[in-house]
Amino acid sequence: MTAAEALQTATTTLATAGVEAPRVDAEWLLAHVLDCPRAELALRHSNILTDAQQTEWDALIVQRAERIPLQHLLGTAVFCGLEMEVNAHVLVPRPETELLAEQAWGSVSGLPSPTVLDFGTGSGCLAIVVAAHCPGARVMALDVSPEALVVARANAERHGVAAHIEFHEGDGREGLPSEDAFDLVLANPPYIPTGDLPALQTEVREHDPALALDGGVDGLEFYRALAKLVLPRLKPTGRLMLEVGDGQAEAVAALLAEAGWGECDLLPDLNKVLRIVIASPANP
Ligand code: GLN
Repeated sequence: MTAAEALQTATTTLATAGVEAPRVDAEWLLAHVLDCPRAELALRHSNILTDAQQTEWDALIVQRAERIPLQHLLGTAVFCGLEMEVNAHVLVPRPETELLAEQAWGSVSGLPSPTVLDFGTGSGCLAIVVAAHCPGARVMALDVSPEALVVARANAERHGVAAHIEFHEGDGREGLPSEDAFDLVLANPPYIPTGDLPALQTEVREHDPALALDGGVDGLEFYRALAKLVLPRLKPTGRLMLEVGDGQAEAVAALLAEAGWGECDLLPDLNKVLRIVIASPANP
């Protein structure tokens, strides 16, 4: 089978299985099998797949048609230009979270040695890009899942920032690591209301860890914990930066105000959904 034929039949198979972007996913998988950049596929349309490539390709398409996430099949996801290892123990990094990363490193990159906490680090993507952009920063990465921390450590090593990140295992709702005051606490916590989990896309529902998605009855449980725990631990010039779910920004701002925080900034993502909430301590 030629590469062009492989792409065409796989696109139909994946579309029939309900995959959202069948052609794009087929291209990523074929580039993986042919071990070439996706942009080079156009030059290889007449290549005949070897037996080994064909076997690998067939297996990948079967799995993608079963709605195993593309990134789990590739083993990686790209976040802010950095390739992150992912598996079923961590949330696949999402494009909208890159906005939180940019805000985070932008807010501390001018400080000589800021202390930063990434609450619920998962794959480590946020902690790693902040550490990579702010070499003077002391970054702490907290997660309740030891399996996620294995992935986060591997990613930190892959990107040469392992020496700048302290990994902490624990449930952040029960307390924050270290005794030091933070310049920045950032979090993309679980924020899907429990009752909405069954309606999520199959890839998310069955393959992202529920631990990283389930935000309790109204989806706001982790924001309430953060509002209470972070305020006493922040420097007066510090910031709390949160990713929030669709339609949650106003409610999160309200619960922060109630917990004694100052004004919040609400920033939209590329789809114009208010996605990031940035809070500062109230002026004394
Ligand atoms: N953005 C993820 C999703 O919509 C949810 C991640 C989270 O709960 N923090 O699937």
